[in-house]
Amino acid sequence: MIGVFALQGDVREHVSALRAAGADAVPVRRPAELAAVDGLVIPGGESTVMSRLAKVFDLLEPIRERIAEGMPVYGSCAGMIMLASDVLDGRADQESFGGIDMVVRRNAFGRQVDSFETDLNFEGVDGEPVHAVFIRAPWVEKVSSDVEVLARVSGGPADGRIVAVRQGNLLATSFHPELTGDLRVHDLFVRMVQDAQTKEEAVR
Ligand code: GLN
Repeated sequence: MIGVFALQGDVREHVSALRAAGADAVPVRRPAELAAVDGLVIPGGESTVMSRLAKVFDLLEPIRERIAEGMPVYGSCAGMIMLASDVLDGRADQESFGGIDMVVRRNAFGRQVDSFETDLNFEGVDGEPVHAVFIRAPWVEKVSSDVEVLARVSGGPADGRIVAVRQGNLLATSFHPELTGDLRVHDLFVRMVQDAQTKEEAVR
């Protein structure tokens, strides 16, 4: 079962996309709900609010612990910020769950281009390029050598910027695949969760 962090953000869209991709999906608002899931999606929304609510609802440390134990997590947009070890242009008291060794800049694409759309070649996603919708999106400014870069913007003022990464069981995109009806990024994550479960069963 895959949970969607549901204290803030576009929760419903991710639940629908996961279900359309064939997974059981449930919203997660409490530690007991987190304990019941095998993977977690952190949606788009507002990372400063997510950070505050995660503390208030006692999910910050439990999510950090599950990440450290290897639970697969996928973060989109604000969710990418929540998975970053380092956040630029955040609020002073903003905390992330961390997990991916990368520097992410909030609202990086600038005010003139609050939102834009482009096609991306996405490593690990077969077929047509992925049509990506960016809304006040972060980009990845720096990654450690443990982080795989899966997609970069090609062309325009943000040419070459990193917008999708993976480190172990953690996946993050600057954009919102839950808004386009293209299920391939959710498919990839559902497979990551299944693979992690298979490995766990093999160890038991
Ligand atoms: N700008 C938002 C933040 O900093 C992210 C925007 C989004 O998730 N669409 O959290």
